[in-house]
Amino acid sequence: MGAEYRGRFAPSPTGPLHTGSLVAALASWLDARAHQGRWLVRIEDVDTQRCVPGADHLILEQLAQCGLVPDEPPVYQSKRGDLYQQALDSLIARGLAYPCACTRLDIARALAASGQARERHGELVYPGTCRGGLHGRPARAWRLDTQAHAPVSWQDRLLGPQSQDVAHEVGDFVLKRADGLWAYQLAVVVDDAAQGITDIVRGEDLADNTARQILLERALGLPLPRYLHTPLVLGANGEKLSKQNGAQALDTGEPLTLLRQAGAVLGLPWLASAATTQDWLQQAVPLWAERLKIKR
Ligand code: GLU
Repeated sequence: MGAEYRGRFAPSPTGPLHTGSLVAALASWLDARAHQGRWLVRIEDVDTQRCVPGADHLILEQLAQCGLVPDEPPVYQSKRGDLYQQALDSLIARGLAYPCACTRLDIARALAASGQARERHGELVYPGTCRGGLHGRPARAWRLDTQAHAPVSWQDRLLGPQSQDVAHEVGDFVLKRADGLWAYQLAVVVDDAAQGITDIVRGEDLADNTARQILLERALGLPLPRYLHTPLVLGANGEKLSKQNGAQALDTGEPLTLLRQAGAVLGLPWLASAATTQDWLQQAVPLWAERLKIKR
């Protein structure tokens, strides 16, 4: 891969970094450095209702305190709506995306009526009501038609072989929401391609989105990046660490300790001889390369 490697950390600015997000940031930085590649930060602020003003600056500052500085100025998704619209237009023009008039209640009713109350992660699996047209109802959201697609298989660099039948397990998913906001799936795929990202390194909680993103990459004719999903940091209740179960804003007064703790989640040694964050990061790069069998 060499010089053309481009990786990224793509936080949603919903609050400061916590231990879990630092693990993903560190892994993506180490992977970029181990490939002598570039490392970017993209602020994923499409879901404006969930964004906290100032959190973007705080995150960038916390990263910098840990020695993680992007090689290019950060990009903000909120400024990239035109790109997402172009992508949606191209899907619509080719009959791959369709407007949907259904409310949540409509979806629940249609599922109940067909006797298949399918749910996944608390989300109803869309039964495809509007696939054949709106029949005079007003359009609310836009969805990808997943029906023609075979199950998606891919090789995760850490988790190994993965596969998902999107049409059956997830259904026609939303590209543009009823409130007019862009869905994460579309924005992330368009931006990764526009920024020339070759490798996605992120937390395992996002692994489940990969098949949907691969379907979109194929539908839009975009290059497929490689994927690596990092282990999650669990809260006291055994669930993914979040503000609700004990995630604390990072104490960046101790950045070296933070790197050591994040490194431990990634299976890296403590590196007790490192005196500074720069020392620690330098020592960690070849260890990461060895662990992931990256040829250097
Ligand atoms: N913005 C997403 C999040 O913070 C991550 C997106 C990604 O890495 O693909 O959960």
